[in-house]
Amino acid sequence: MTSPPAKPPIHRSVFGKLVLIMLVMAFCIMGMVFGFFLHFVNPMVGRSVDRMLGDYGRRIAADSPDLKEAQRLAARLHVQIRYEGPDGAWTTDQNLPTIAEAVDDTQRTHWTMRPAWGTSRYLAQAPSGGHYLFAWEFGQRAHAAHDRLLLFLLASMIAVFFAAHVVLTRALRPLRALQDGVSRLSAGDLDVVLENRTRDEFGSLTDAFNRMAARVKEMLRARDQLLLDVSHELRSPLTRLKVALALLPDSAKKAQAEADAAEMDALTTELLELERLRDGRPLRTTREDLVQLLRDAAQTYRDTPPGIRVSASPPEIPLDLDVDGVRTVLRNLLGNAVKYSLPDSRPIELSATRDDDNLVVRVVDDGPGIPSEDLASIFDPFFRVDRSRSRKTGGYGLGLSICKRIVEAHGGQIAATNNPVRGACFTLTFPKPATPGS
Ligand code: ADP
Repeated sequence: MTSPPAKPPIHRSVFGKLVLIMLVMAFCIMGMVFGFFLHFVNPMVGRSVDRMLGDYGRRIAADSPDLKEAQRLAARLHVQIRYEGPDGAWTTDQNLPTIAEAVDDTQRTHWTMRPAWGTSRYLAQAPSGGHYLFAWEFGQRAHAAHDRLLLFLLASMIAVFFAAHVVLTRALRPLRALQDGVSRLSAGDLDVVLENRTRDEFGSLTDAFNRMAARVKEMLRARDQLLLDVSHELRSPLTRLKVALALLPDSAKKAQAEADAAEMDALTTELLELERLRDGRPLRTTREDLVQLLRDAAQTYRDTPPGIRVSASPPEIPLDLDVDGVRTVLRNLLGNAVKYSLPDSRPIELSATRDDDNLVVRVVDDGPGIPSEDLASIFDPFFRVDRSRSRKTGGYGLGLSICKRIVEAHGGQIAATNNPVRGACFTLTFPKPATPGS
């Protein structure tokens, strides 16, 4: 009966906001962990490691290792060693700086030369009077470990994100159902009952919604029943009144009283008609030419300003319909189109077309149109755009609700829109009969 509510753009949806909050929190936590490691843990560990490696270097130097022993250490401990002393010079890695360059560096910086994430170098005195230079790759290895940790954290975050996506989608399902229920109720579907699967706040909200919908339905049913009862009760006194009025001598007062009685008669007839159509009572359908029905209905208004133009494509459209019902619909729509036309309005356009799936009838007028905020309500019983009833446009707001019930009883739909420039357009859509060629 109603189209599902339009999904809000992701950045405006509760889901989108929750995902964003989650991401921001995840990034904040990651930032805090990294900040903590960068400013506290790393410098602390770095200083301890520096001291240990420096001390270890001095101990190795005290043992005066030769090139062979140094190469063995290099392979085992990932340390490169250069020696320069009175008994010769050798190195396990040609890229190591000379002792003189290293001394130069230590004088400029500190006892060790330790770039942030590079190779740490230590100078140590040899018992021979020479010097050993040790280059440890501890920083480089720590850096690689940090990179791996970062990648691992990112991968974990992506996994957590997808898991949270699934969990949030499930958790917010009742909210979506509620949104759907509220829009169905506001569109007039009073039979809406939402399934309640949760016991949280959404569950209470769903229960409250179901109670509210049931209560609204009950109130409207009571209203309709009251109107129906009153209409029934009014029929007999009204008939007696009309008979009594007919027996009175003609006068202005009699004419006024007859007009009032006719108005009350019209109202009760409309109300009873509305009730007759309630809940899709079976129609008495016969195969008719829809286009001919349109032409017949237009005939009544041919000489009434602003006039009427009928068009049809194809020229004959056979359809199974309740003739009296469809005549009532056309009479109401054309009556309104004439009633709400302005002195300078173009003629009313009444058209019938057939597309692949449907038969479409349009009534287009050139009147003031319908305020866009009222478009959704004009098919509700007793709804009038202008609440003050005047003699010229003084209906009861029942005509369109009767039209809607008749069209829906045919399995069709009725909709109102405004024309781009001026005036209203009522569109009736009937499903095409199943038989080919009909
Ligand atoms: P009424 O008997 O009051 O015309 P309807 O159910 O036929 O009741 O129409 C409901 C309301 O819709 C009207 O009061 C009017 O405000 C608006 N309406 C209906 N048809 C038109 C139209 N062709 N142009 C402008 N407003 C219209």
